[in-house]
Amino acid sequence: MNVSEQLFERAQKVMPGGVNSPVRAFGAVGGAPRFIRSAQGARIVDEDGRTYIDFIGSWGPMILGHGDPVVREAVEQAVREGLSFGAATRREVEMAELICSAVKPVEMARMVNSGTEAVMSALRLARGFTGRDKLIKFAGCYHGHCDSMLVKAGSGALTNGAPDSAGVTRGAAQDTLLAEYNDLGSVETLLEQHSGQVAAIIVEPVGANMGVVPPAEGFLPGLRRLCDKHGALLIFDEVITGFRLSFGGAAEYFGVEPDLVCYGKIIGGGMPVGAYGGRRDVMSCVSPLGAVYQAGTLSGNPVAMAAGLANLTQLRERPEIYGHLNSLGERLAQGLRQALPGCAVNQIGSLVCPFFSSGPVTDYASARQSDVGRYAAYFRHMLDQGIYLAPAQFEAMFVSFAHTAEDIDQTIQAAAAAPRQA
Ligand SMILES: *Cc1c(COP(=O)(O)O)cnc(C)c1O
Repeated sequence: MNVSEQLFERAQKVMPGGVNSPVRAFGAVGGAPRFIRSAQGARIVDEDGRTYIDFIGSWGPMILGHGDPVVREAVEQAVREGLSFGAATRREVEMAELICSAVKPVEMARMVNSGTEAVMSALRLARGFTGRDKLIKFAGCYHGHCDSMLVKAGSGALTNGAPDSAGVTRGAAQDTLLAEYNDLGSVETLLEQHSGQVAAIIVEPVGANMGVVPPAEGFLPGLRRLCDKHGALLIFDEVITGFRLSFGGAAEYFGVEPDLVCYGKIIGGGMPVGAYGGRRDVMSCVSPLGAVYQAGTLSGNPVAMAAGLANLTQLRERPEIYGHLNSLGERLAQGLRQALPGCAVNQIGSLVCPFFSSGPVTDYASARQSDVGRYAAYFRHMLDQGIYLAPAQFEAMFVSFAHTAEDIDQTIQAAAAAPRQA
């Protein structure tokens, strides 16, 4: 047994599935997960000393690559000054200013500790602001693990939600309505059926948790129009796309103005951070200004703020970063299209995903057509070749600023030698 296997055996005795987040257990691809010891640039090293080109990047936060010297320096400085005070600090002000400078609709922001918390709080705020109960979400969009969002499409996609997880009460799920991604008609039907009751539509402006599914032309502007018509708020869950598609995230990239935006991942630079923000009149309903309660002992934590500020400041001040990310994303997608004939490779900016189906993949149903057995075989082959991909089909490949054209080409070469059968 190698070290990862030994650790996995110990882990399974004391942690459910041996992990602290399910996908890490390698359940969808088989085998023992690699336990990661360290990382630098585009490479991670496991406990057995094997090095991999990393396309997870901690699921997005490491957009500059691992061990960025500016981020590390900022964190070390913050640690010397104190880990947590439970009081207002300068870095929180700077962070909120930076987030508000990124995109016009965000006029005020509140820091929290995870993407889940950001979404949960934004939904409560939308309900408090509108005085309405119902929410529309899209099949295949992931918004963290808060109860009301653990709902997927059942047999009838346009019916009231049924919980997707044990332990979620029918009550928590019944106000969640499910629409189909890239299908404005499905949204309009729900808004008409539940006229005057929908507080918000929440959407990943690029679906990045069912593989990668970009919005069709007109989809996001259509959601904006429908929200205006029906008095619902539009919430962009930019936990992945924020500061990745561009500095102003998907809102800027697609030129659509949401009322509220949820952030996470990149804004913490690898530390546990989330944030939600948006229109001043809406955000003014959050306590202590307004009646919507939301709080956090460690919210705005100085070490986390230092990491996030260093990440975001570099993204703002070094415009070459997005050019590099986007061109490598395209290079990777084009290469994979040749290396994996018969696959549908979706890409937008630095988010890439090969689906093992003939495609096109435009929503949850078409994403589910992918042959997950073939993905698993591809994953294991790539891992053997020193390429660390997401251990599940329905995730993105994250390209970072630390990847080079050579890393991308090495990845494409490895893919070309992948088995053609599951
Ligand atoms: C990761 C993710 C979340 C949840 O964030 P956590 O920090 O894992 O709680 C929410 N929404 C989207 C789009 C995500 O990708």
